[in-house]
Amino acid sequence: MTFAVKCLDCGHTAPYSPTSINCPRCESQWRDMVYDYDSISRVMTSQLTGRPFDMWRYRELLPVRSPNPALNLGEGGTPLIQAVNLGLMLGCPNIYIKDERQGPTGSFKDRQAAVTIAALKEAGITEMVAASTGNVAIAYSAYAARAGIKLWAFVTSLVPVVKMREIALYGSQVVKVTGSYDQAKQVAAEFARQRNLYLDMGARTLTSIEAMKTIGYEVAEQLTGVLGPTNNQAGKDHPIWRMPDWYIQSVSGGMGPLGVAKSFREMKLMGLIEKLPAVAVIQAEGCAPMVQAWKKGMDKAVPITSPRTHIETLATGDPGRTYTLLYGQVKDSKGTFESVSDEEAFRSMHVLAKMEGVSAEPAAAVAFAGLFKLVRAGVIQTTDVIVVNCTGHTMPAEPFILGDNWARDVVLPSQVRKEETPEEGLLSALSNIAPDRFPRIAVVDDSPEARRLIRRILQSQGNFTIYEAAGGGEALKIINQERPDLIILDLMMPEMDGFSVLDALKSKPETASIPVIVATAKELTGEEKDRLKGQIQALMQKGDFLSDEFLEEVRTLLG
Ligand SMILES: [Zn+2]
Repeated sequence: MTFAVKCLDCGHTAPYSPTSINCPRCESQWRDMVYDYDSISRVMTSQLTGRPFDMWRYRELLPVRSPNPALNLGEGGTPLIQAVNLGLMLGCPNIYIKDERQGPTGSFKDRQAAVTIAALKEAGITEMVAASTGNVAIAYSAYAARAGIKLWAFVTSLVPVVKMREIALYGSQVVKVTGSYDQAKQVAAEFARQRNLYLDMGARTLTSIEAMKTIGYEVAEQLTGVLGPTNNQAGKDHPIWRMPDWYIQSVSGGMGPLGVAKSFREMKLMGLIEKLPAVAVIQAEGCAPMVQAWKKGMDKAVPITSPRTHIETLATGDPGRTYTLLYGQVKDSKGTFESVSDEEAFRSMHVLAKMEGVSAEPAAAVAFAGLFKLVRAGVIQTTDVIVVNCTGHTMPAEPFILGDNWARDVVLPSQVRKEETPEEGLLSALSNIAPDRFPRIAVVDDSPEARRLIRRILQSQGNFTIYEAAGGGEALKIINQERPDLIILDLMMPEMDGFSVLDALKSKPETASIPVIVATAKELTGEEKDRLKGQIQALMQKGDFLSDEFLEEVRTLLG
């Protein structure tokens, strides 16, 4: 395979070696891998089909001369999962999750570690140094262990202790640095310099950027599998891969989206796709130097010296030139930078887990919170096809999102009382698990999808007994029988509509005082609004169900 390194500053091209970290002509550390794209485009269109679905199927686009299968841990080839429920909730049917949790150590950093360690092994390197907020060191540790390479992992003392233990378990030497992540990087660099060891340099490590490209290629192939190729243009002898309209990823240093954006450019260059997806880069508000610079139209970020976020894995205060490079990519793709609060991230994490069964780590939840924000702001259109990068290494974030009392205790009696059989003892112990009565909510809507969505959203917020009715007549029957504490009512239903249901409820003293939230997809006329006045507690627009307003309203009405 033919590849070389091109200097981003002077344009000089040199052969690739993992140990040469400067441009031989101008000393710059900012360089980029270049390939013979003409010949690779032929491989991409003719030989991919027969290869296993892992990241090495794009081996011609990676700086490893002969990939060694003995080092592999099953990296890449992660699923692309459609987020059907999030789609219903946001009114965007085409949201896909690139599930990087399913990598060997549970994060997208596995790709970086796999390619870098393969290149180091090929170059005969036996020892390396990396600074990390956790996931990078875990990924490197696993691959380094497999390759027999010794890793010195410099982590800040804020990295959760479970992550540090996992790094140590793989045989890496953990070095705890009391200070910021940027300071940990400086200490690691000095250590590597003194001992003349290979140092991972973040986005300046060529293998890292190259590894991240495989996410983009996989997304292209997977989306094409789901949605079909983009209409073939006359004169093309191969299908044009489908691209999302948006690719969303949360960032700390920014290497991930920088690599993925490079894959998009390569695919365009090789004629494999027609249009670059817009890239949305999301940061935690308490450490968002890139977002601050972007909003001022600046291509250089002002470093943040004391990050204020609980999400330590995203606390790169000084993104340096990576931001400048990313700025160019994001601008070209008509993408954006956005930030979200820790609270928004934790809430998204909860919603994602409860609505989609996907437990992401807070850093990845930042990307989903960004998605919600951009859809609500109208930056992302509801018809857009969206891919969100979801990585999921564990982090003890539960205290932030679950609070206390998330588990219920069952204490089995040690001795069965005389008057009880063993079964009765068990039953009385189990009676502590659930109270006899949860708040009761009737959901009235003729669309089963809408009912299911409201049920899911409510269940994601707490324990409720939920009754569903598909029409006005059925609703009145259930309400008279069950006397719910709250009714969520659709207006437009065939046969008996919401207005008539309201009239019937208000005419009977037993049901007149049950609070009602009307949820409608329709723009109401002045006359219709008058009919509802004084009759209902709140009027909600469908598609706005996840708004704090709606959930606050439900909580208030249920006391
Ligand atoms: Zn140069």
